[in-house]
This record gives sequence, structure tokens and C-alpha cells, in this order.
Amino acid sequence: DDNTTEIHRARATLSPALKQATPVVVDHATGSWIHGTDGRSYLDFTTGIGVTSTGHCHPRVVAAAQEQCGKIIHAQYTTVMHQPLLELTDALGEVLPDGIDSVFYANSGSEAVEASIRLARMATGRPNIVVFQGGFHGRTVAAASLTTAGTRFSAGFSPLMSGVHMAPFPYAYRYGMDTDTAVDFALRELDYLFASRVAPNDTAAMLIEPVLGDGGYLPTPPAFLAGLRERADRHGIVLIVDEVQSGVGRTGKFWGHEFCDGLVPDILITAKGIASGFPISAIAAPTELMAKAWPGSQGGTYGGNAVAAAAGVATLAVIAEENLVDNARERGDQLLAGLATLAERVPAIGDVRGQGLMAGIEFIDPDASGSVPTANAAAAAKVQQACIDQDLLTLTCGPLGNVVRLIPALVVTADEIDSGLARFGAAVDAVLG
Ligand code: PMP
Repeated sequence: DDNTTEIHRARATLSPALKQATPVVVDHATGSWIHGTDGRSYLDFTTGIGVTSTGHCHPRVVAAAQEQCGKIIHAQYTTVMHQPLLELTDALGEVLPDGIDSVFYANSGSEAVEASIRLARMATGRPNIVVFQGGFHGRTVAAASLTTAGTRFSAGFSPLMSGVHMAPFPYAYRYGMDTDTAVDFALRELDYLFASRVAPNDTAAMLIEPVLGDGGYLPTPPAFLAGLRERADRHGIVLIVDEVQSGVGRTGKFWGHEFCDGLVPDILITAKGIASGFPISAIAAPTELMAKAWPGSQGGTYGGNAVAAAAGVATLAVIAEENLVDNARERGDQLLAGLATLAERVPAIGDVRGQGLMAGIEFIDPDASGSVPTANAAAAAKVQQACIDQDLLTLTCGPLGNVVRLIPALVVTADEIDSGLARFGAAVDAVLG
């Protein structure tokens, strides 16, 4: 049919290095819905990998971008400054943690991650970065060097950036531990790494996601973040929180790290949801720390694009005025409760977890024995595909590929969550029933 022809035409010309999770070609999209050229309407629980925070084509975001297009599109920020970036910086000032008042802009999450590493190394004069197993920080060579969410993100193009060391993540379910024990274990292993391989005084930064994203949708226990903060303070290490996926309301708090009471990071990285789909990213840090990156040491042609910044200002206004952080928390609770009920009757669902509108469903082989659960990537992949038959778009994640993740828009309604749960349950039954 027409649709197949269209996809095939695209596949013949687009790089095969792109792996597409669905066969959908979008005609248009609105709110939580993607309307395909195949005439079908899909409930979108992918949001462009956690990007379209205010839903697809929110009228206010569209209007802001259109208006900005008529004023100036590209006002290169090391040449001339533009109003949308000043406005976005003011708006971010309202939501950033106290004291984190200086902002640098780039285009993508990966670029912002790199900017944070440059800053941490310049500020400390130290070489090493400690990351946590399962972390995803991007696809540029440096960001891929920091990524441990799957070898597919780095295999075949080594050597990677040097000076990166990986410590365990408190993955309680995998280790068969309760959360407290997993946190204690992972912090002791971090101290062991500092004793055995990476001297703390040679360590510039620790880089962590408040909720592991591509690595399996695992909330980072608050006590673990607190333990990192304590070690960062003790050793003069910069604590970087990568809020690219967990930030901007997605977890039911504005920033994912806020689940750790009183925690103030040294550098915060944001991207994705900040502009509802326009490419813009940022790092934020105390002015004193940011000043350690001397003028001219950070930059880029497109960073802080004017149209993207205008969309960012509109996004932050919509999130505040439509109470979308509260909605993310309430709809997230509804989603996780529904998934937990489903898990009770499906032995191949080993774990359901998440924070707000980041929900992960981990598939296992319930009959296998062993010291850790046996991943069932085939079940996750089949369920993800069966969801498409239910007109529900989802993604998989995790180093072992056995987690299905649901990432609805922050504007998702209670009815849409119920509908998504019904479709997901039907997909699970079609595959495993
Ligand atoms: N960090 C995190 C936590 C992410 O989830 C991602 C993207 N999935 C990135 C960094 C990289 O962002 P980008 O794809 O915009 O480079």
C-alpha cells in the first residue's frame, strides 16, 4: 500500500544506521496523539524519547515559535544576544535550584553533557569522571564514553575518551536487594573504586541521572544521591546531575534530583522537554563555578537558537499555568498502579518501577534460576511491537533490552492513561497470554 511504499522509499535513502522502533510515518500530531499517513491515530507514550513535554504542537508553543520566526531565527549568541534567550534564562531562574544561577546553552543533550565535563575539568584541573552503570549520556564520542547503557552505543569506534570510570548503580531489583542494602552496596563499591583505581583527588566529577533513562528506567534512590553529595563535598568533586530525560516536570517534581531532600547539585544538565521538541539544551551552575570556564571556552554556531528559546519560554509558561508537574505526578501514580496490577497476573513481568511519567516494565524469564533475574529481551521486543497493533507507541530500553518504557506527555489525561493501560495489557496478553 501507499504507506509501505513511503517507508521503503525512506529506507532506501536514509542511513541503515537508524533503527526505527515503529513503521509509523507521521502526518500530524497533537497532544498525546500521532496521526499516521496510514490513517491510524496512535496514542503516543514515547513523546519523541521524552521530549514533547507539553504534548505535540501545543498551541502556545506553536504560536511562540511562529511569532519568533517572523522576528529573527538565528541570532548567533557569541555574535549578538537575543531576547528569547534572555527571557528563557529568566524563566529558568525561577525553576533552577537556589544558587544555580548561571546558564550556558547548546543544542542537544550530548553537547550539554560535554560542556559539563569541560567545565568540571577546567574548574578542578583533574582528569577523571566517575559514571554509574546503566547511565546514558549521549552519542557524541565523549558522551558515548560516559554511557554504560549498552555496548551498542560505543562498540566499534574506540578509543573512547579516557579518564572515565564506572561504579555500580544501586539496581535493587537486579541484585535481589532491598533499596537500603543496594544503596549501601553501591556506595561502598564507589569508595572501593576510589581506593583501588581512581584517587578522589584525581576525580573531576561524578555524573548521574536522577532516574536512569535509556539504561532501564530506574529511579536513583535519594539516599544514593545524598551519598554522592557527601563524597563530592569531602573530596572536592563536582556533582553533575543529568536531567536531560528526568527534568522539566517529567518525574512529578520539576527536577528528578528533588526527590533527594535538600540536594543541590554543582552542575545541572537539561534538554529534551525544555522546549517541547525544539532543539535546545543547557547546563546550569553557580556563577563562581561557571566562571572557571573562561570566555570563549564554550560555544557553538546554533546553541541557544532564538526559535527554540522562544518555544522554551512558552513551554515553561504552559507547564506552570497548566499545573503539568502535578499532572505528571498524579497521572504517573495512576500509570504505575495500573502496571503493578497487570504485573500481578503476568509472571514474565519481573519489575514495574518509575517516577512520575517515566514507567519501566522489566521482562524476565520467570522459570530461570540464577543469582540475578534472567532478562527476557524477546518478550519486551514482542510486547513493544504488539503495542503498535493496539495503536500504542512505546519504546524499549536497558542494557539487556528487556525493559519497555512508557513516556507519556505531561498533558496526558486520566482517560488517556486508562486507555494506554488497556492497550498495553492487551499487547501483553497477545504476546504472553
Ligand atoms: N542524557 C540523557 C539522560 C538522555 O536521556 C539523553 C538522550 N536520550 C542524552 C543525555 C543525550 O541527549 P541528545 O540525544 O539530545 O544528545
